[in-house]
Amino acid sequence: MSEIIKTQAIVLSKINYSESSLIVSLFTKNNGLTSAIIKGGRRPKSKLTSVVDVLNFIQIILYKKESREIQIISSADLISYYPKIKSKIELTGYALAICELIKTLLVENESNELIFNGLVRILSLIENESEPPEVLFGRFLIFFVKEIGYELNLETCELCAAELKPNSRIGYISPSGFICSRCSEDKHMNDSELFNYLYCLKNRKKVNSFSEKIYMTGNQFLINYLKSHIESFKGLNSLTML
Ligand SMILES: [Zn+2]
Repeated sequence: MSEIIKTQAIVLSKINYSESSLIVSLFTKNNGLTSAIIKGGRRPKSKLTSVVDVLNFIQIILYKKESREIQIISSADLISYYPKIKSKIELTGYALAICELIKTLLVENESNELIFNGLVRILSLIENESEPPEVLFGRFLIFFVKEIGYELNLETCELCAAELKPNSRIGYISPSGFICSRCSEDKHMNDSELFNYLYCLKNRKKVNSFSEKIYMTGNQFLINYLKSHIESFKGLNSLTML
């Protein structure tokens, strides 16, 4: 028996399949990560293909069969296509990196409305260039890491459990985590700028007082943090195009 699902979705990626079809990876609001086929999707003038395109926010009707790995899209309407993201390579790269993160680390057919809403929100912030895309990417990463169960501890020292205070001396020991003023003084460490930056990302505070160099350092730190917690995760290809 097949189930009819009407849901919003973001198109994460697409690949050619057979002579004339396409397979797309979608992150849907009601069914989570979903693979779907568009039969005849590679023929010119396919209306479905122009709507179900990478980095589009769409409303779809899906025929879902539990026994099938790839579902069928019966109709699709465009909600937003993020023209600015697609016109600037830097914005495209970060948006695709977020899509890749979702595709790589979430399991199929498990809905997660919080992550879906987070994705839609971050794409609209990137589209509006409310902050540099690397900062928005960092904001999404730190939120995503928490939602998939690997929340970054910025509250207590990994060695003595004392409270970590922003704007004080803070150290970092890989891979365990951040350590307090007293512990980092003993070890002659100072990773305060990184800590303060991550603290602002996590607590949704402004970051315009930081030097831009920290944006990339912060993102690299979060990617490495994910790698150290998830063995199968090898990083994001989309970031190498930037
Ligand atoms: Zn300590």
